[in-house]
Amino acid sequence: MNVLVVGGAGYIGSHAVRLLTDAGHNVTVYDNLSRGHAAAVPEGMLVVGELADQAKLVQVLKEKEIEAVMHFAAFALVNESVNDPSLYYRNNVIATIELLDAMMEADVKKFVFSSTTATYGEPDTIPIPETTPQKPINPYGFTKLVVEQALADYAHAYGLGYAALRYFNAAGARPDGTIGEDHAPESHLIPIVLQVALGQRDHITVFGDDYPTPDGTCIRDYIHIDDLGAAHLLAMEKLEPGKGICVNLGTGRGTSVREIIDACREVTGHEIPEVMGKRREGDPPELIADATLAKEMLGWVPKYNDPKSIIETAWKWHKAHPHGYAK
Ligand code: UDP
Repeated sequence: MNVLVVGGAGYIGSHAVRLLTDAGHNVTVYDNLSRGHAAAVPEGMLVVGELADQAKLVQVLKEKEIEAVMHFAAFALVNESVNDPSLYYRNNVIATIELLDAMMEADVKKFVFSSTTATYGEPDTIPIPETTPQKPINPYGFTKLVVEQALADYAHAYGLGYAALRYFNAAGARPDGTIGEDHAPESHLIPIVLQVALGQRDHITVFGDDYPTPDGTCIRDYIHIDDLGAAHLLAMEKLEPGKGICVNLGTGRGTSVREIIDACREVTGHEIPEVMGKRREGDPPELIADATLAKEMLGWVPKYNDPKSIIETAWKWHKAHPHGYAK
């Protein structure tokens, strides 16, 4: 298929691009490089542009005869969304509507969307099935929920076929070590811990150990970036006009902050000093996917089944590229 990957220069998008290419699809990346890296995109695939530039988007969609769009071009930091909701509603909602309208104009009706567990807020039931009421507790989660609703409405009115994939915690890197996670500033647990192992930070601060979990630290469902990407390819194959697929992408396995740090110690052989800090605002104690629907609907089975194997791939990337994509 001819696939447009919007946000294909970012962490998750760039991994999906490689998987699409590996599977023989014809990929065009559309990215404004505000947070992504040109170096993460294979030679000759990148079109630099804004989602708000509808004329350009329509032109690219038509010229490249695009059949399906994957959309990774969103901002995804909870704290930032609380402090600057305008940035989030503009980039995550308004820009996505521009993209959808460009698609409708160019008659492209297949769309794979990056949604999030943050649309569930603080769910009562763990593991979290897709039927859990979506009650976000921060602007980031709301922006993703608004788009999910828009997708359902576009499917009904315009025949869009879409998948809304609700990500749990994406982690790791392409196993060959060529691309990986590079955010500035970095806020995610695993890359920060690995920066300690690289000697770039003195310690990892654990954001609270007084949560109602067995070791007191927060539990998350870490899913390898290529498992996540693989689900996008499967979802793309399943799209039907006028229909939506909403599924969780997680492993169904929870890992605490403390367990992640210990696994990083094992993988890197570094002592990784840790300091106990305060809770970070808006962190739910435990988020674990009920991952059965993705398996049933998409035939999707994650290959990485323990945090250590995920961290090993991240470590390979960070060791080889201690400053990320910067030379
Ligand atoms: N965390 C931490 N110290 C850090 C960064 C993260 O203790 O320096 C914790 C955070 O509170 C959360 C977990 O690690 O419980 C995962 O955080 P991350 O930001 O990676 O992903 P999130 O779950 O917020 O999407």
